Amino acid sequence: AGKIEFRDVHFSYDPNRKILKGVSFEVPAGKTVAIVGPSGAGKSTISRLLFRFYDVQDGQVLIDDQDVRDVTQESLRASIGMVPQDTVLFNDTIAYNIRYGRIDASEDDVRKAAELAQIGPFIDRLPDGYRSMVGERGLKLSGGEKQRVAIARTILKAPPILILDEATSALDSHTEQEIQAALDLVSKGRTTIVIAHRLSTVITADEIIVLKDGQIAERGTHADLLRKH
Ligand code: ADP
Ligand code: ADP
Repeated sequence: AGKIEFRDVHFSYDPNRKILKGVSFEVPAGKTVAIVGPSGAGKSTISRLLFRFYDVQDGQVLIDDQDVRDVTQESLRASIGMVPQDTVLFNDTIAYNIRYGRIDASEDDVRKAAELAQIGPFIDRLPDGYRSMVGERGLKLSGGEKQRVAIARTILKAPPILILDEATSALDSHTEQEIQAALDLVSKGRTTIVIAHRLSTVITADEIIVLKDGQIAERGTHADLLRKH
């Protein structure tokens, strides 16, 4: 489950400026499609339409052949997980942040998700450091550690659909590789949309869509696109 389809989608935030001008693509269940393109091309708009933060003006967005306009907000939120560029954390423990939205999850499940995301030792800390009983201050979480919290949250939620919106672009290249490896594990078997601005970060995607000025300029595998240039 989790097939995504955009059918001739047209969208603008305001009537004077079209953002998406007839975008069609499909992500088969369990596959990964990457959307790359320059900033302002409309990449994040695609994820907002999937979540129904906005509705299309023309065309259709479908999940498992059902128009998202016919899906409840609760069901959409339950079926889509998101790792954004900068994860904003609540000023509460990492365990709380991982559990967020899944109050029914057991402590053991939270711990396991944290360990898989390699953030296990941080579970009782606060994002901005913590004051222990002897008064020492822990360290503030780095960007990569915050992304691990977002990954642990996604592991716990286990949604059929995953959106990775520039999830590694704020990280240095060493951390980027580590987080990329963790994301590859999480996206396995899930329908995944990866939003990126560089082709080099989406080599393993089943299909890459190059979005330019609200339209699909090119599409194919990484090898296909390299061959053309
Ligand atoms: P990308 O993710 O490719 O950088 P976005 O989808 O975020 O691009 O945005 C596409 C265009 O839509 C940009 O020019 C942006 O300024 C504009 N835009 C984004 N959000 C809004 C909004 N809420 N209202 C008006 N314009 C917006
Ligand atoms: P949960 O279902 O885990 O309680 P939310 O209901 O807050 O989470 O949000 C549902 C999904 O939407 C989450 O995966 C979250 O990361 C994502 N999300 C929340 N706010 C935004 C936003 N402004 N832009 C894109 N995605 C968002």
